[in-house]
Amino acid sequence: MNEWSRLDAAELNEIYVEQLEQYKAYQDRKLRLDMSRGKPCPEQLDLSAGMLDAIRAGEPVTAEDGTDARNYGGLDGLPEAKRLFADLLGVQPDEVIVGGSSSLTMMYDTIVRAMLFGVPGGDKPWGKEAAVKFLCPSPGYDRHFAICEQLGIEMIVVDMKEDGPDMDQVERLVAEDAAVKGIWCVPKYSNPDGITYSDVVVDRLAGMKTKAGDFRIFWDNAYVVHDLSPLPSRLKPIFAACREAGCPDRVFEYCSTSKVSFAGSGVAAMAASRGNLDAIRKTLAVQTIGPDKINQLRHVRFFGGPDGVRAHMEKHAAILKPKFAAVLTLLEERLGGIGIASWSKPDGGYFLSLNTMDGCAKAVVAMAAEAGVTLTKAGATFPYGLDPRDRNIRIAPSYPSLNELQTAIEIICLCVRIVSARKLLDARV
Ligand code: PMP
Repeated sequence: MNEWSRLDAAELNEIYVEQLEQYKAYQDRKLRLDMSRGKPCPEQLDLSAGMLDAIRAGEPVTAEDGTDARNYGGLDGLPEAKRLFADLLGVQPDEVIVGGSSSLTMMYDTIVRAMLFGVPGGDKPWGKEAAVKFLCPSPGYDRHFAICEQLGIEMIVVDMKEDGPDMDQVERLVAEDAAVKGIWCVPKYSNPDGITYSDVVVDRLAGMKTKAGDFRIFWDNAYVVHDLSPLPSRLKPIFAACREAGCPDRVFEYCSTSKVSFAGSGVAAMAASRGNLDAIRKTLAVQTIGPDKINQLRHVRFFGGPDGVRAHMEKHAAILKPKFAAVLTLLEERLGGIGIASWSKPDGGYFLSLNTMDGCAKAVVAMAAEAGVTLTKAGATFPYGLDPRDRNIRIAPSYPSLNELQTAIEIICLCVRIVSARKLLDARV
């Protein structure tokens, strides 16, 4: 098939009318398909059913250091839970705090603490600065951007390339402006593109000269063990790179088992230098007497160790792989070779990006909604909800059944074809 931009108006109009007919037939089916968030599907949650029996009534609930997990205490997590996360993140156990169920909460708390009390290396709380700015490689994760927006942190868009953020832009911005205090990174199977940062990008982030002495990288490694391919992407460990570059305090790393065990009842952890963690523990001790240690212990017992987590993730991959494959096959079939869309092909994580022609994403998402397919709001993958090219759509294949997913993607492709044909036709007038 030809690129659509080369078709004449009559040919385009024929496609437009024909696709519209098909769209109306879908509308008549009154479907209700929600693809707005990257949630695990029920079969994935069932994989962790044994978690609920990992501690039975009458069995000891004692951690390896003798802590009674039922009682207060253990501010920064059980030793065996720290060891598990340290292994997954490639750091030392004393560089880890194991928290409650949400890594997003830990990120939010880290930034609020920095705003109220500052971070090691800074001379005042961020909130006392005239302005605080964060670099936001985009498309990115909407909830990161929501934290900044709520706390009045100015967001600066940085382009995403195939191997991570555009480091020329990043290096220039951090070098020239002391108000730039942080950068959001989802370094492995990024949300939404599904790309993994290259070694060069990791090294440049670790070693770049920043005007702010208290600059931090927010390394949200949410998809650290979420491989779909037997040859997983390898992410260079940023802690070692920062240490080698002489900036050991530069990075805060986060992860959780939200998409390993239960999305609502997982365990979250963060890693940072010992200096950073000492500062965090001081405020954490005021915030809480301790996290849910029973849940930490259940997780350690259920998985048995890092290899247990990795084996468990292979079961997730067996469920998710056919879904990602179905999406990619349909996109290629319906949108390939006609020059109206491009998309990422991730080897892991929970999302992929579909990019339409400029100026079409909002219209596609609205049209899909009218045929019963709810997608993440167009623009949500950019700071302030503003996609400057109005082209990025986040696709989350995990939750719907394979059948529902195929129907949803067929509808999305139909909407892309209709909106693109209309746009090309309008441009001819
Ligand atoms: N970070 C990223 C990049 C995510 O995609 C998600 C879930 N969509 C989260 C964090 C949320 O993590 P948690 O459930 O641990 O709060």
